[in-house]
Amino acid sequence: MSKSKGYAALKAMSPLAPYTFERRQPREHDVVIDIKYCGICHSDIHQARDEWSEYQEEAIFPMVPGHEIAGDVSEVGAKVTKHKVGDKVGVGCFVDSCRTCPECRSGLEQYCSVKTVWTYNARDNEGSPTYGGYSDRIVVDESYALRMPKNLPLDACAPLLCAGITLYSPLKHWKAGPGKKIAIVGLGGLGHMGVKLGHALCAEVTVLSQSLRKQDDAKRLGADHFYATSDPATFTKLTRSFDLVLNTVSAQIDWNQYLSLLKVDGSMVVVGLPEKDIPVGAFSLTGGRRSLAGSAIGGIRETQEMLDFCDAHGVACDIEVVPIQKVNGAYERVLKSDVRYRFVIDMATLGKD
Ligand SMILES: [Zn+2]
Ligand SMILES: [Zn+2]
Repeated sequence: MSKSKGYAALKAMSPLAPYTFERRQPREHDVVIDIKYCGICHSDIHQARDEWSEYQEEAIFPMVPGHEIAGDVSEVGAKVTKHKVGDKVGVGCFVDSCRTCPECRSGLEQYCSVKTVWTYNARDNEGSPTYGGYSDRIVVDESYALRMPKNLPLDACAPLLCAGITLYSPLKHWKAGPGKKIAIVGLGGLGHMGVKLGHALCAEVTVLSQSLRKQDDAKRLGADHFYATSDPATFTKLTRSFDLVLNTVSAQIDWNQYLSLLKVDGSMVVVGLPEKDIPVGAFSLTGGRRSLAGSAIGGIRETQEMLDFCDAHGVACDIEVVPIQKVNGAYERVLKSDVRYRFVIDMATLGKD
């Protein structure tokens, strides 16, 4: 075991504070990563506040959040072949899985039917708690570490590991591309990546946002059209317009209204996570042979494909870098949607309290 420094929620609801903990000694297939940057994902806040107790096993405190991790390899185990010391690598939402179930074998480790080992607030296969990226280093099996883009700033690429892949995977699965009309609902951390990636995939991108406040931003990010959902005329005007609607909103909105915007055979894919159930009427689906689906992050192979795609197309996140001492304030601002569009913690500030 070796000591690691980070920030943790010592118990549910408590503000994050400096915390020292143990990481495992690197095994023969492990890499040790010096963490340079870690994005702040809304799900970090949900978990640090133990708001997902209905959906997952008991939360584990003290909890070191963070699953948008980017840094340099500082050490490799004897049998590591995929990465070498000095490589820029990343770790996303999970650090292991069973590797043998049908899902794992087809590259869908995030849906592992035995056990996906989440990057934090989980237990590894030996039963030890996992700790995330709000820390100085992480030890991870080489197969679950990703090659980061070479031509883009590392800090702006950290959020690709959750926000980026969360949008890329459904865009690819539902075949967003030339000639396809897609709508991105909500222009936050997830939505802004949907716009950039949809545009880079050459789809026609419409943003549906509550107000017109972010219109200029959306156009700058690559949106072709922008509509305010607070205007009821939007829904009549856009009826049967889209092949694909990607819904990133985690608030309680009427999904039936958004289903009505799909063409025949269109799909709405949910990637935001509202806390309460949202009712869907059968007619919303049958009236156009429509599909309602959900999607969660992506597997290792697809995440690497996404990082390589972003590197080739110059796609990174719009970020605001913060010192770790300001993480609690950043959480408050995320809850108010007061960030364009993702906070990234500069880990060089760790230990400078
Ligand atoms: Zn996340
Ligand atoms: Zn599996």
